[in-house]
Amino acid sequence: MENIYDVIIIGGGPAGLTAGIYAVRAGAKVLLIEKAGVGGQVAITNNIVNYPGFKSVDGFALSQSMFEQATALGVEAIFGTVDALKLDGREKEVIVGGVTYKGYSVILSMGAYSRGLGVENEKNYIGKGLSYCAVCDGAFFRNKTVAVIGGGNTALGDVVYLAPLVKKLYLVHRRQGFRADEAVVNEVEELIHAENSNIETRLDCVVESISGENAVDGLVLRNVVSGETEKIAVDGVFVAIGRNPNTEMLDGIINLNNGYISVGANMETNISGVFAAGDIVDKNLRQITTAVSDGAIAGTNSAMYAKKIKG
Ligand code: NAP
Repeated sequence: MENIYDVIIIGGGPAGLTAGIYAVRAGAKVLLIEKAGVGGQVAITNNIVNYPGFKSVDGFALSQSMFEQATALGVEAIFGTVDALKLDGREKEVIVGGVTYKGYSVILSMGAYSRGLGVENEKNYIGKGLSYCAVCDGAFFRNKTVAVIGGGNTALGDVVYLAPLVKKLYLVHRRQGFRADEAVVNEVEELIHAENSNIETRLDCVVESISGENAVDGLVLRNVVSGETEKIAVDGVFVAIGRNPNTEMLDGIINLNNGYISVGANMETNISGVFAAGDIVDKNLRQITTAVSDGAIAGTNSAMYAKKIKG
């Protein structure tokens, strides 16, 4: 008999892992496909303080724990990049490294990726002083000077993480007010105003260019109010200006809104049997709690869908 999964989950962040836990417990045969490492954005978050049940939890440890729970319950997991998808029809197809996996239902939980600054030669500096992940790369900049770009929870969380490590930190944000949660903003304000603070802010400023022959040695900032430019010397720059959904391969296949997947209350997309969960979904609040909520709903409904379709 042909090997068909009831549910194929693409993406192993909190949404996909939770979907796996719920689908397998509902009796489904489940395959989870992850590109690199499980956990997604959460795995590179240092200290999570708003996930209920934990006063403080390391994101990598939390992701590993979710993964172990899912696989112990019977979720099969493979690592590889999805090359193509066929989502219409009774049996959906997901192609990974030339191998076709078939499923009665599919859950799309590929999350989002870091947005770039859009300046010249940005890509050439990746790994040479430019990073999109403070927790991954912060240790390389011990006692050095860095800039953090952005004003959301990621950027301000990066400031809290990096300030004790580095010699000097510039926080560069394009306006005066920060988008981050009040608690994080207060924590950063305290660090900025502390005696011997090593943080300098550059508000109303954007990065115009990055300099450095072989590695980053400076940034040119432009004040968006005055139009003036300033060159600052830095060894590293951490870009934290938000994220874009991983939906390029779905364009023209699934209904998207601003690049994010539109879903109904049961997390089903416009295609029958295709569900979505987590940061990839068009919604207002992208948190681990909302990702696991989406995952529980998508996992349960995808298992029910597969049962119905099989008759
Ligand atoms: P975000 O909330 O979208 O914030 C992006 C920041 O970058 C904003 O301050 C934005 O400025 C700025 N920005 C955007 N485009 C820019 C550009 N081209 N040039 C300069 N600045 C630019 O992104 P995020 O901080 O990565 O967070 C993403 C989601 O994850 C959010 O929902 C956040 O709450 C969540 N998150 C939660 C936690 C936590 O709860 N522990 C931690 C991290 C992230 P404006 O403010 O002017 O738009």
